[in-house]
Amino acid sequence: MSKPTCDCTTAMAQLWDYLDEELTEERYEMVKEHLANCAHCLPHAEFAQGFLSALGRCRHAGQMPEGVRHAVMDALKREGLV
Ligand SMILES: [Zn+2]
Repeated sequence: MSKPTCDCTTAMAQLWDYLDEELTEERYEMVKEHLANCAHCLPHAEFAQGFLSALGRCRHAGQMPEGVRHAVMDALKREGLV
């Protein structure tokens, strides 16, 4: 049986769940496989991953300043991720 694959829309729709590791193993592998082979989606995934780790750091450091939060949300909107 060949590996399940998905298109960009499907991969992006599942990106956040993928990064949160909330997908089933099959779906996780499917998105991972797509990202590894797709020059279009990989930068989005890296951006989102960086965003999540920045959020994690802010959570530890205290509060994210309002201006930073807005800048991040604007950037996410430009990327089409929210
Ligand atoms: Zn793609």
